[in-house]
Amino acid sequence: MEIIERRESQVRSYCRSFPTVFTRAAGSFLYDGDGREYIDFFAGAGALSYGHNNPELKERLLQYIGGGGITHSLDMATEAKCQFLDALERIILRPRDLDYRVMFPGPTGTNAVEAALKLARKVTGRTGVVSFTNGFHGMTLGSLAVTGNAQKRGGAGIPLTNTVRMPFDGYFGEDVDTIEYMATLLGDSSSGVTAPAAFIVETVQAEGGVNPASWPWLERLQALAREYGALLIVDDIQVGCGRTGPFFSFEPAGLRPDIVCLSKSLSGFGLPLAVTLIRPDIDIWQPGEHNGTFRGNNHAFVTAAAALEHFWCDSPLSQSTAAKAAIMSSRLDILATARGAEVRGRGLIQGLVFDDASLAARISRHAFARGLVIETAGPRDEVLKLLPPLTMNVDTMTTGLDLIEDSIGAALDETARSRASRHNGAKNAHERHAHWSNGNGALGVSP
Ligand SMILES: *Cc1c(COP(=O)(O)O)cnc(C)c1O
Repeated sequence: MEIIERRESQVRSYCRSFPTVFTRAAGSFLYDGDGREYIDFFAGAGALSYGHNNPELKERLLQYIGGGGITHSLDMATEAKCQFLDALERIILRPRDLDYRVMFPGPTGTNAVEAALKLARKVTGRTGVVSFTNGFHGMTLGSLAVTGNAQKRGGAGIPLTNTVRMPFDGYFGEDVDTIEYMATLLGDSSSGVTAPAAFIVETVQAEGGVNPASWPWLERLQALAREYGALLIVDDIQVGCGRTGPFFSFEPAGLRPDIVCLSKSLSGFGLPLAVTLIRPDIDIWQPGEHNGTFRGNNHAFVTAAAALEHFWCDSPLSQSTAAKAAIMSSRLDILATARGAEVRGRGLIQGLVFDDASLAARISRHAFARGLVIETAGPRDEVLKLLPPLTMNVDTMTTGLDLIEDSIGAALDETARSRASRHNGAKNAHERHAHWSNGNGALGVSP
């Protein structure tokens, strides 16, 4: 840990929230150098939906490496890539009647978003992209321009342009229909808002504080995009790959996005892999027009194909996710009622929202001390974000929820104690003041 504090850039973040040196992981558990076990309710920010080091995936990867399989290949044709594309087509796209070209934009989520934005601008000849309040799409300049968070945007150092921010579902409260609001602006040639190249949306805003958009809102957003000749980009990087139940988070709304971004849990093993899925008729790239050295992560192809075979063929993960989500949300409802919080979420991304914005971070700290890794989200980090692996068993999840309950108690006790000591402090100051003003007239001067 000392080497990290001495040598790693100030920009580091999660190693500050979870200050220990982790040494190994299995399934829903992380272990540190002191042999402590942690239940993982963070799951690599959604990159480990199938848990750590899943044995089937690991075995396939070890076999592949042992057999001298290709590791690096730019975007040359490899057997691993063919097998991944075949699995994606056969297990995911065809059964859902979805026809997408698969673009490999580079290994991380933000690469998939950058490619989507570029393509939308190229296809429509327009420059503006509508994104939403509290949206999160990545840290490179294009993705950052469609991200809301001021602290993250501040890191850019240049103006983030060619985007238009619109209110997400529910942003102004239940009574304001934000689709109507956008339709009014777009329908008025004097509003100053012109038809964009695309709308980019998360069906559940994850980093933005676990805000699910309603199904009707998403359907109407798609209709609005179509009406104005704009593309609909669904950023399914965090809540895709089964996080909310179905493989694509938008399936229950029956959406047919023009472009879909996937990454995080796509490789299934925590290896970097991202794809930009493109409606075939708008796949108008010139060969090599968007390029990159690491667009063929063959190890990730191997584990991704294995994950699709293992989790999405016969007994779809979606059923067990729905069952676990029901258990989680009913427990959270009870906790929230008792503690004056709010529960938000869909499937196995759930948030516990507190009025006192400092509470979520303190609960996370107490949870870590008790052996639970859990992060916060939202504009003021006021949301405790529950993101366990989808494969976590119910007993472990229940233990995790127990630890959250204890941690909430500990954080609230802390609040009560600090209030009491502030109160006592104020009382003492008052007494001191009275003493000094009565005793020697040194008004307002503290001893
Ligand atoms: C994490 C995330 C990204 C960015 O992915 P990186 O791999 O961190 O670049 C983009 N969009 C959403 C919704 C995400 O959760």
